[in-house]
Amino acid sequence: MMLICSLIMDVPSELSKKSIRLATLNISFQHLIKGLVMYTTTYNVSTVNQFKFGKSLCALAVCISLGVMAPAHALLINLTSTGNSNADTGFQLAANFWQSIFTDNIIMNVTAGFAELAPGILGEANSTYFDTTYSAMKTALSNDSKSADDAVMVAGLSAGPTYSKLINNGGSAHLQTGISTMNMTRSNAKALGLVASSSTVEDVAITFSSRFSFDFDQTDGISAGFYDFVGIAIHELGHGMGFTSGVDIFDLNFSGGFSDAQYNPFATVLDFTRCSAASKAAGADMDWTANNNAKDFAIDGNCTPLVSNAWSTGVSQGDGRQASHWKDNAGIGIMDPTAEPKGNLNVVTLLDTQALDVIGWDLRAQVVPEPNSLLLMLMGLFGIHVARRRPSIV
Ligand SMILES: [Zn+2]
Repeated sequence: MMLICSLIMDVPSELSKKSIRLATLNISFQHLIKGLVMYTTTYNVSTVNQFKFGKSLCALAVCISLGVMAPAHALLINLTSTGNSNADTGFQLAANFWQSIFTDNIIMNVTAGFAELAPGILGEANSTYFDTTYSAMKTALSNDSKSADDAVMVAGLSAGPTYSKLINNGGSAHLQTGISTMNMTRSNAKALGLVASSSTVEDVAITFSSRFSFDFDQTDGISAGFYDFVGIAIHELGHGMGFTSGVDIFDLNFSGGFSDAQYNPFATVLDFTRCSAASKAAGADMDWTANNNAKDFAIDGNCTPLVSNAWSTGVSQGDGRQASHWKDNAGIGIMDPTAEPKGNLNVVTLLDTQALDVIGWDLRAQVVPEPNSLLLMLMGLFGIHVARRRPSIV
C-alpha cells in the first residue's frame, strides 16, 4: 500500500496512486478502510538549533574526509533526476551516505523531484508499503539478525503469532491483543528479504520544496541563508527505509469512528521500539496511544528506555508533530521532525542508525565510529554542532 510520508494529510491523487501500487504488489488489501485518511510525513523548517545529545555518526563530508566510506557497497539506492543537476549531485551524496552505513544487498528505487510544497515544508517522502504478518516479520527479522542490537530486538519480540498494543481508540487507553497483521515500507521489506531485492517497482517518491534555497554541498559547511539539502535528503531516505510509525494514521483518523481492528495493518517494525511505562504495565508490545504522553525508545521488548520521551506523538492528538519522528528539537537525530535552521548541518546520530539497524538494516561494522574521536573531528572540521548548542525546547 502507499502511505504518504510527506506533507499533505489527504491527497486524492496519492490515494489513487496507492491503488495502482497495491495491484502491482499483488498482495491482499482487503483491510483498506473506506474513508481512512492516510498521512504524509513532513520535514519542517525550524528556527531552533537543536542540542545534540545523540552521538554524531558523521556528517557526510566528514565520512568522506575520514576515509571511512567504503568503496564497495551492496546497497544500491537508485535515484531518478530531480530536474536540477546540483540537487541530483546532492541527492547522490545522501544516497552514498546510507550506502556507506548499511550493507543490505538490495536495490532501493527512489523517484525524486521538486514541487511547491506547503509553506514550512522542506521535503516529503511518499513510501510504498508492504503488508505482512507479525509472524513473517519476526521470522525475517530473526533470520536477518546480525548486530548485538538486532539480537536484543529479536529476543524481545513476543512469541506470536500475534502482538498487542496499548491504544486509546475511542478516548481511553486500553490493551488490544491478538493482532496478527502489520506493515512496513517496501524498502524495509527488501532489507528483510520479504520483497525481491532487485524489484524495479518504485519504493519511495521524495519531493523537495521549490520554495527554499538549498546548499547542495556539505563539504564546506552550509552557507548562511541556505538549508542543508543533503541532510534533508538523508532524512527523507530514512523514512523510505522504514523510519515511520502507524500511529500517524491512527492519530489522523482518531475521530473517524474506526474500530481497533481496522488499524491492525498499520503498525510498523519501528513501532515495536515505541513504548511507555503505561504500555509496559499493560503488557503491550507497543504504545500506540495518540496523546501527549511521553513515548520511549526501547529495543528490548521490556521498555528499558534507550531514550526517554523519544518520539513525537502526533499532529492531531499529540504534540503537534508526526509520530514518525523523534521528539522535536530534542537533538536525538536527523529523524527529528524539523530540520536545522539555515546555515546548519543536519547530523545523523548513532540513534538514527540504531533504529534502522533493529528494524532490519545491516550496519557496516567498520564504519561504526568511536563516537568521541569522531565527535572531535566534527568539532574540528565544522565547529558547528557544539559551538551553537543552546537551550532549544520550544
Ligand atoms: Zn520526516
